Amino acid sequence: MDITGMKVERKILLNPGPATTTDSVKLAQLVSDICPREKEFVGIMDNICKDLVRIVHGDLKKYAAILFCGSGTINMDICLNSLLPKGKKVLIINNGSYSQRAAEICAYYGLDYIDLKFQYNEVPDLDKISDVMTQNTDIALVYATQNETGTGLLNPIREIGKLVHKNNAVFVVDTTSSYAMLPIDIEKDNIDFCMASAQKGLMAMTGISFIIGNRNIIEESAVYPKRSYYCNLYMQYEYFKKHGEMHFTPPVQTIYALKQALKEYWDEGEEGKWKRHQRVFRAILEGVRELGFQCIIDEKYQSGLVVAVKYPDDSRWNFEKVHDYCYGRGFTIYPGKADNNSFRLCALGAIDVCDVKAFFEVFKDALKESDVQVPVRYNSGRLL
Ligand SMILES: *Cc1c(COP(=O)(O)O)cnc(C)c1O
Repeated sequence: MDITGMKVERKILLNPGPATTTDSVKLAQLVSDICPREKEFVGIMDNICKDLVRIVHGDLKKYAAILFCGSGTINMDICLNSLLPKGKKVLIINNGSYSQRAAEICAYYGLDYIDLKFQYNEVPDLDKISDVMTQNTDIALVYATQNETGTGLLNPIREIGKLVHKNNAVFVVDTTSSYAMLPIDIEKDNIDFCMASAQKGLMAMTGISFIIGNRNIIEESAVYPKRSYYCNLYMQYEYFKKHGEMHFTPPVQTIYALKQALKEYWDEGEEGKWKRHQRVFRAILEGVRELGFQCIIDEKYQSGLVVAVKYPDDSRWNFEKVHDYCYGRGFTIYPGKADNNSFRLCALGAIDVCDVKAFFEVFKDALKESDVQVPVRYNSGRLL
């Protein structure tokens, strides 16, 4: 097969993942057919797992990366269903739609859980978390989300983790929308388990997700109640340790793309990549502000990865219409989550400031086309 001359149009995705990928990552999927049980493939998986641990500066003797075939939610499901000992409770620190999803998973499995709710536009009160933990000594597992992708709020993971460990519990952090973007140090950040999907910070393809966690805790979980067959953390860990393979068929081509994306991650570097995401974020923030838009959370809580924008009070504003106009010109914008009257522009993916500038030219035209008044107006006036 000769594929020279193939042309794939570049699109700018400002949705919260999957992200814009490089051509080299797209092309890495085009490989000769291979049985994933072959040594050649096993070696690729092993290197990928090591790299995934290195990204969060984990000691390979202490931490392991476990791969699963699925989208990011599979990680949340697995951590919650696999890491709760018999007769113990989970504490969900809930200040956004992704933590809310974790609470729903607990409900589905019939786990004993405390849903500790906070406002979606505020960081959780550490004293409250501490109180709940002292009052409930049977809490064995605590779950929080680092970057609440619905709002872009950054939770104080290191501080929460310190409290969790003081109370002898295990700390699971959903880092799906921060991993490989915002620098994470699994040990210093007091994280026992974190997670992500290939299509977010790593700018690879959908279909493969991974949990990075403490080996000792995984080993201990061998005797915990089994609540799922396909989605059990220990089972997958154990199988991988013995055979160097995923228990069931991996997404082969997706893994080749991930291999290439990891190479590109190291080429760009942790610091360089985070700087790029931050400058993209700044460019988005400046772009919306210039048009008079307001964000739904205070800037001091922003993770620097998502801009959640309030709909203006203008009867001519129609998100769908603006979306379709931009989409037709190669730019994807995304509806909001925590607040129905918001939309999101995200700073992940293989994009830079020039792409954001090009987007705003199209976005401005979309507003003009809809007759939305610019700068946009809000009845309440006060800037958040
Ligand atoms: C994207 C994301 C997930 C996973 O969502 P999927 O739709 O299953 O990919 C989980 N948590 C956070 C914080 C996310 O941003």
